Amino acid sequence: MKTGLFGGTFDPIHNGHVKLAEFAKNRLELDRIIFVPSGDPPHKSDKKVTGKAHRLAMVQAALKESEAEISEWEMEREAKSYSVDLVKHFKKEFPEDTFYFIIGADSFRDLPSWWHYRELLELCTFVVVSRPDTDEDDLLSRYEGTEKPPRVFFLPDLMMDISSTQIRERVKAGKDIAKLVPEAVLRYINDHGLYR
Ligand code: ATP
Ligand code: MG
Repeated sequence: MKTGLFGGTFDPIHNGHVKLAEFAKNRLELDRIIFVPSGDPPHKSDKKVTGKAHRLAMVQAALKESEAEISEWEMEREAKSYSVDLVKHFKKEFPEDTFYFIIGADSFRDLPSWWHYRELLELCTFVVVSRPDTDEDDLLSRYEGTEKPPRVFFLPDLMMDISSTQIRERVKAGKDIAKLVPEAVLRYINDHGLYR
């Protein structure tokens, strides 16, 4: 099986995430996509992230009618988890599968600073989806001179200029987000008074 792993904070999950996963699945003929919402950051972290129960509930709501799977592996871990451990975990669980790591270009840009990223590149193929401000040449130039070029597929911009940050800001400002998130997510945000 060709399995796509798609990690994120998903605070909240939005239409860009859903489209991106579908697009990657079709283009690379993946058999399945597994969404992996991140755990809560450690107390000291200054990044404010909505609690994992809410974030998970929104991912579930968004994917209710989709075939995509959801893994709670990262959410259940106490410590901060590294992507390399995530992929190793799934390799153990599904030894026959080949793995595709789905990621936005903004996150991929930071890859060289990730824990054991070379090993991570050996373990899976990267599927990098451009965001509106992506410069592909700049991205690849970061890997020049490395012994083994990373296995990377670039998928073109989906023309989805949507981010969770933008959604949180819009809710806070009392603006409409109906076009940016699945309907069930919109309802969840309203029902629970999130991002106000
Ligand atoms: P935030 O603004 O809080 O960082 P986000 O929209 O980037 O939120 P994340 O949960 O950080 O959402 O993203 C999970 C993954 O999805 C990341 O790899 C990110 O690069 C990618 N991603 C999110 N939105 C898009 C988009 N519109 N186009 C391409 N990739 C995206
Ligand atoms: Mg992000």
